Amino acid sequence: MLPYNTFGIDVSARYFVEINHLQEYIQLVQDGQYAHVKHLFLGGGSNLLLTQDIDALVVKIQISGIEVLDEDADYVWVKAGAGVVWHDLVCYAVEHQWAGIENMSLIPGTVGAAPMQNIGAYGVEVKDTFDHLDALNLETLAVERFDTARCAFGYRESFFKHAGKGKYLIASVCFRLNKKAEPQTSYGAIQTVLGEKGIGNPSIKDVAEAVIEIRQSKLPDPKEIGNSGSFFKNPTLSATEATRLMASYPGIPHYAVEGSTDVKFPAGWLIEQAGWKGYRSGDAGVHAKQALVLVNYGKAQGSEVKALSEQIKKSILDKFGVSLETEVNIL
Ligand SMILES: Cc1cc2nc3c(=O)[nH]c(=O)nc-3n(C[C@H](O)[C@H](O)[C@H](O)COP(=O)(O)OP(=O)(O)OC[C@H]3O[C@@H](n4cnc5c(N)ncnc54)[C@H](O)[C@@H]3O)c2cc1C
Repeated sequence: MLPYNTFGIDVSARYFVEINHLQEYIQLVQDGQYAHVKHLFLGGGSNLLLTQDIDALVVKIQISGIEVLDEDADYVWVKAGAGVVWHDLVCYAVEHQWAGIENMSLIPGTVGAAPMQNIGAYGVEVKDTFDHLDALNLETLAVERFDTARCAFGYRESFFKHAGKGKYLIASVCFRLNKKAEPQTSYGAIQTVLGEKGIGNPSIKDVAEAVIEIRQSKLPDPKEIGNSGSFFKNPTLSATEATRLMASYPGIPHYAVEGSTDVKFPAGWLIEQAGWKGYRSGDAGVHAKQALVLVNYGKAQGSEVKALSEQIKKSILDKFGVSLETEVNIL
């Protein structure tokens, strides 16, 4: 599995197949050859921590294709196969000057996995431009359509991580992109980069390039240092808990949660304050520039990274009374 996970963890899978069309998978299930083992769907392997050999059939989803389903004066509906590389879809949209996903430039992984955790970056999430997806119901082998409500998107959450977990193969996703571009540049770092370049009225491409520059400057490239991006979610606290935390740590950064009195805190800040930034034990560590990213410097085992994540969780609970939740899928 070494080439198939961005953490660079060297484990084996019992069986492995690549699927280029949904029908191939349906056929495989109907043939019954792998009915005795679990099936694990794999996109780009960029949100996984593999802690042991996988006693399952790994199904690498390679369903390709980008097509325009419909358009009107304001919007275009673009459908992409689950195996399309997410950043390729972003580039396609940017080239056509269709707005809505450019702030999510360079997020690793595939289109099919994007709704799983409602990926997001720099003030924008998948749910903002999502129109619908088609997924195979693994019990009935029928294709079902999911609209936004049915996906139950939340912060790095969806139906597919809860009630729908392990029950569907996402085959394609359709986005409604905006022809009349209104770039989202409220995020401070984007403004800074655009300001430095003297760009006052940014195009979609300008925003995408700014995001790429920011990400390349602060996130480790998995080709060089194994990682799965943010290891933990940013904790969201009730107003009462948040007041307690802010009273103890007056300078603590925090963000309002839209439509709620809850307050969100950056997990990276908590981890850094607890002294973990740049920590290393063997080949498992905490990235030196971004404390939210756990890394594999070479030959770390998944279990070592997991053990480190548990140490960090405990230390944040002891110091701040805050429970961190893992964003990465640990297998
Ligand atoms: C350097 C780096 C930066 C990152 N930055 C961000 C960021 O800014 N924002 C963000 O939200 N995420 C970020 N991530 C996390 C990751 O890129 C996303 O979660 C991405 O959507 C994972 O896609 P994938 O194809 O690699 O999924 P995988 O890791 O292959 O799979 C993730 C989960 O989805 C399931 N799955 C995959 N495809 C399908 C399918 N077609 N049908 C059903 N289930 C499926 C898998 O079984 C698994 O449970 C980052 C990761 C890295 C390495």
